[in-house]
Amino acid sequence: MTRATDVLVIGSGIAGCAAALAASRAGADVTVATKATAPADASTDWAQGGIAVTGADPESFRGDVLDASAGTADAGAIDVLVNDARDAVNDVLVDTLDVPFDGAAPGAPLAAYDRGREAAHSERRILHVNAATGSHILRPFLNHLRDRAGVTFLDDTMALDLLTHEGRVHGVSVLDDGVVEPVFAGTTVLATGGIGSCYETTTNPDGATGDGIAMAAFAGARIADMQYVQFHPTAYPGSDPFLLSEAVRGEGAVLRNAAGERFLPDVHEDAELAPRDVVARAVASERERTGSVQLDVSPVAPDFATAFPDLAALCADRGVDPADGIPVAPAEHYLCGGVAVDDRGRTTLDRLYAVGECARTGVHGANRLASTSLLEGLVWGLRAGESAADADDPEPIEAPDPLERDPDLPDAFAEAKYRRLRETMETAVGIERTRSGLDRARSALRRLKGEVDAYTRTRVSRSLYELRNAAVCGLLVARAASDAPSAGCHYVVTDADTDPTAAQRGDAC
Ligand SMILES: Cc1cc2nc3c(=O)[nH]c(=O)nc-3n(C[C@H](O)[C@H](O)[C@H](O)COP(=O)(O)OP(=O)(O)OC[C@H]3O[C@@H](n4cnc5c(N)ncnc54)[C@H](O)[C@@H]3O)c2cc1C
Repeated sequence: MTRATDVLVIGSGIAGCAAALAASRAGADVTVATKATAPADASTDWAQGGIAVTGADPESFRGDVLDASAGTADAGAIDVLVNDARDAVNDVLVDTLDVPFDGAAPGAPLAAYDRGREAAHSERRILHVNAATGSHILRPFLNHLRDRAGVTFLDDTMALDLLTHEGRVHGVSVLDDGVVEPVFAGTTVLATGGIGSCYETTTNPDGATGDGIAMAAFAGARIADMQYVQFHPTAYPGSDPFLLSEAVRGEGAVLRNAAGERFLPDVHEDAELAPRDVVARAVASERERTGSVQLDVSPVAPDFATAFPDLAALCADRGVDPADGIPVAPAEHYLCGGVAVDDRGRTTLDRLYAVGECARTGVHGANRLASTSLLEGLVWGLRAGESAADADDPEPIEAPDPLERDPDLPDAFAEAKYRRLRETMETAVGIERTRSGLDRARSALRRLKGEVDAYTRTRVSRSLYELRNAAVCGLLVARAASDAPSAGCHYVVTDADTDPTAAQRGDAC
């Protein structure tokens, strides 16, 4: 049986859910194909600090987004985010999903809710549920779409490639229960999240392999700003890492080096609340100089465990006593670039939209302001879903037949390739980059992508396609970074600043 739907959404995080909701409200037949088998497979479910919302002074929100981006964010995109924020949050999160935000009283305006503060925000504007906001949004969202909005879900189903004909997108091929088949759609919305799996250390869940970006790139869509990979300054660096939300610093926690000294007041006037890229680089350099950095939570009132019970529980699970300071290190966290879209999530390909972390709206420019990602996914998801619903009927086309000639590759194959990818990304395309390192990374990643591509010609498996997509995204980041001037979280130092012999060595990454 041929599967066809008006609107096909790929991914079930906040952006995909918002697109599905808006399209179904507009009367479309909506299908969500997601490789997730549980909510926790989406970054949305892991979001901690909360969702920023426009307060009494929209100008200050606009200014904060622009300042955090080092002046590079797109003014039109910031207007969309700031102007739509309150209505989107009220309509979807409060009225439709009844998210139990801290301090919310029935019927009270958002202004009366408890609002947290995070780095580079000049006022308290972040709505939160404890430090586990994402799961309190995503789980009711998924239930609402399944039970009340009539959206069809294809769970545990991975989109492999876009189906295109004469520059128009007609749906995707999916891998469902080991079988590859087409799903045709009037419009297709990519909402596949970030690229954390390209790096050795990341805050993202497994499966953040940049699938939508790679699929769009293969089909010829414009991809932009891939050099802007954001590293979060405060991830617990043990074998079972977790994020320590910026909200903790927003409530007074400070960073100390191995000698117990604060170092951020010497780096930036906003100290621990400086933009994320500034704090991440300072933490990395202080770790290198003194051996470790700790998050000192003693200033948090009334105390850390009361203010952040979820984070206190994560510390307890790892045997960390917050009273001794919590060890932290930077980790890959968020991709500011992605599939280039307009103010309604339209890509450069006919009938293809992209929303959420896989999209480049321009709102983050070179560096994202904390807690604006959930909001961006919600706002653009709603806009894209509404527009996507207004499309022609699905048109089945002849879908390419994948060649499944050869048996699956052993796990060790993917592990070895990932190791090469991640080492290259971490050392040469990480928090601090040099031009010569980027050039070497480009060559190494081009070779890696070529090797993986060769295997995808005769084999289809989830792990192989994820590896292909991660390798493509790694190469897109390295390529964009080689050509772009230093800005925000794309931080390029001269070779002489790091290792005077590096430029001459030419060793492979
Ligand atoms: C630990 C952590 C804390 C964070 N805290 C905050 C915060 O407090 N505030 C904030 O604003 N942001 C925060 N962020 C960032 C934010 O959570 C994400 O950027 C945002 O949730 C991304 O939403 P999304 O819908 O674009 O993608 P995701 O939520 O990542 O969803 C992507 C979906 O696509 C599916 N998928 C991927 N590839 C395929 C494919 N090929 N086929 C089918 N399905 C596919 C995945 O399974 C998943 O369901 C945090 C991120 C992390 C990791």
